[in-house]
Amino acid sequence: MEEKMKLLIGLQDCDIRIRDAQSKKEEKPIRIERLQKELEQNENQLKAELNQLELNRRTRRESEQKIEEFESRIIKSNIKLNNIKSNKEYTAALKELADLGKEKTLMEDGLIEIMEQIEILEKKCVSNRTKGEVLKENFEIERDEILKEMKALDEVLESLENERANFSEAVDEGLLKRYDIIRKHKGGLAISPVVKGICQECHMGIPPQKFNELIRGDGLMSCPYCGRIIYWGEDEHFRNINEKG
Ligand SMILES: [Zn+2]
Repeated sequence: MEEKMKLLIGLQDCDIRIRDAQSKKEEKPIRIERLQKELEQNENQLKAELNQLELNRRTRRESEQKIEEFESRIIKSNIKLNNIKSNKEYTAALKELADLGKEKTLMEDGLIEIMEQIEILEKKCVSNRTKGEVLKENFEIERDEILKEMKALDEVLESLENERANFSEAVDEGLLKRYDIIRKHKGGLAISPVVKGICQECHMGIPPQKFNELIRGDGLMSCPYCGRIIYWGEDEHFRNINEKG
């Protein structure tokens, strides 16, 4: 009985370590994905800013052209003004000149604004480009590190699977089946120690008579509440195994 129980405890310990290694391994690609997303976000932002910069530069060129047009119209208007004979025409020409001046000023204000925006965007693009380079470098380093960790975990898993196979072979078939079924239905743990009369997995008190039976260790027993295979956790023989694990 004691030997059987020791094997089961060893098997469960193995299964717990397998589960831990697997869940660690599953987290790794998620981390890579997160880093990649961060990198992509930065790239997209940079792309959007570069597009905006291009648009602003086009607007600047157009504004500059328009201002030049206004300037030549103003020159023409001035020439016209000098050649006018009638008062009425003169007033109209003055108004036209004033309007042209106003519009030109508005255009110039707009140009200053767009130039300021361009300057801000250019700085942003430079800083995001630098940030992108750093992110990319870090991403590559971290990704390689994670891939290395995954490979190491694969090796751990392989040796654990071998260890498990050895335990499985040693445990008799019927018991192994029972163990696997309970494990599947009980969140991965089929074996539970009972300490001071309490099942350590479901935390229910084992009836005293059953507990005494368990201490005597005549045969394999199950927790009447959670159905796990139980052993007396205060037993020296089993304690050593657990401490080793
Ligand atoms: Zn229980």
